[in-house]
Amino acid sequence: MQIQFNNMIYTLLFIVFVIFVCYAFYVMKPKKVGKVPKHWHAILMQNVLFYKKLSQTKQAVFRKRMMLFLSEIHIEGVQTEIEELDRILIASSGVIPVFGFSNWSYNNLSGILVYPDSFNADLQFSDRDENKRILGMVGTGRFENQMILSKKAIRLAFNNKTDKHNTPVHEFVHLLDKMDGETDGIPAFFIGKEYIAPWLALMHKEMEAINKDASDIRKYGGTSEIEFFAVASEYFFERPKLFKQKHPDLYRMLSECFQQTSN
Ligand SMILES: [Zn+2]
Repeated sequence: MQIQFNNMIYTLLFIVFVIFVCYAFYVMKPKKVGKVPKHWHAILMQNVLFYKKLSQTKQAVFRKRMMLFLSEIHIEGVQTEIEELDRILIASSGVIPVFGFSNWSYNNLSGILVYPDSFNADLQFSDRDENKRILGMVGTGRFENQMILSKKAIRLAFNNKTDKHNTPVHEFVHLLDKMDGETDGIPAFFIGKEYIAPWLALMHKEMEAINKDASDIRKYGGTSEIEFFAVASEYFFERPKLFKQKHPDLYRMLSECFQQTSN
């Protein structure tokens, strides 16, 4: 009787052990990244200028990085349907600013909520509300680790290829700014400590030019250091050649920061 009882305990322990090992394997196994659908290349070529300008080899890397992004970040539509094109454009916006880093996961982002249109500070988007001017934002508090984007702004960001404006890229740059623990317009996580003072000096000079109407950087960039970093980065990724020509110092600084150049 005693022997049988011991056997039972060993069997139970063995079963628990097997379950634990299976679970550990499940948790540690890299997340399954789906295969890139073949037709995405054509959609990307048509819609994403950044992708179009990459070499074929880099385009393949870009597509893989998009799939990785989509396997890690949950995208949900709020009273709007998420179409394939939205997923492609959102994933592209997430990959563009970090394409210079061989491996990247947004560990400060778990999900993206997509609203049909612009919204107000309380995340309402009623047609009667005149204050619904927000096109995208990085969530805080209850929405920590979330990003909220307007579907209209996502589409518009890639429709117009000459406007130096891209709302989703703008929001992803805010997330990168936040990597060092503070959203302050100083990408301390990416630039060496010795670059912080030159970055501040350059930023203030450029912001002054914006506020004196003497710059082609979007006006919103002159409102705060946080917005300057995001707005200048949009321009950097949307129109790199023009940006390099008009703002060579800033171009060098951002190339260093994002580990990317247009050449
Ligand atoms: Zn912003």
